[in-house]
Amino acid sequence: MRIQLLPSTFDAQGVANLEQRLTCFLIDDCVAIDAGSIAIALTNEQRSKVKDIIVTHPHLDHIASLPIFIDDLYPTLKQPMRIYATEEVIDLLERDVFNWNVYPRFSDLKNDYGPVMEYVPIPIGKPFSVAHLSVVAVPVNHIVPTVGLVVSDGQKSVAFSSDTAETEEFWKIVNEMKELNALLIEASFPDRMAKLAHVSRHFTPASLGQELKKLNHNGMDIMAVHIKPSYRDEIVAQLAALNIPKLSVMEPGKVYEW
Ligand SMILES: [Zn+2]
Ligand SMILES: [Zn+2]
Repeated sequence: MRIQLLPSTFDAQGVANLEQRLTCFLIDDCVAIDAGSIAIALTNEQRSKVKDIIVTHPHLDHIASLPIFIDDLYPTLKQPMRIYATEEVIDLLERDVFNWNVYPRFSDLKNDYGPVMEYVPIPIGKPFSVAHLSVVAVPVNHIVPTVGLVVSDGQKSVAFSSDTAETEEFWKIVNEMKELNALLIEASFPDRMAKLAHVSRHFTPASLGQELKKLNHNGMDIMAVHIKPSYRDEIVAQLAALNIPKLSVMEPGKVYEW
């Protein structure tokens, strides 16, 4: 399984910036998890392949350029872009984003080929298919309805925490997996901002260190993501000081393979 955390911004030479402002993971060049930077960071080839987007929750950093992405592709879509989300998240996207005020309700619109966008409601705790992948969604502990995901391609499996604070159900699903190759988990704020992390339901390196004691799998890659750019150096240093084997920081733009 190939996974790329899409960059949010680029330097003057077009090189991906390490600072992650938006969240969008691209799996095998064709399935997206969240869509923060989807309209700004895909290659032309990737753009032509993406047909399935899973939205974990409706926070702007996870959906910022989703409306623009559909808009860009509008005349060329020969099948609707499929947006996978829980019913609650679909309702929030329709109410707050695709509401004719912030942006058009693409789920009601057609181009010359047919509908351009379609919602696929996802179950909780039961596997569903997305392209060649099998996915299980489980609620996590965030300030809005949010799911973590475990994604398998039949051979390899990777877990995505999405945005969360201390949680239980996610670890139950993760620990039940026979094999897990990687865990991508958030670490948003530095330890000195534990209060803000708590009220906004995010981890700091210290609370992440505690949380990872719930993980039964050993020896797999653990990659920290969703590191707030303003505190990046501080968070990276605090993560390193945890001395957790195979814990590293995921680099935007780089393709990882498991
Ligand atoms: Zn969030
Ligand atoms: Zn976020």
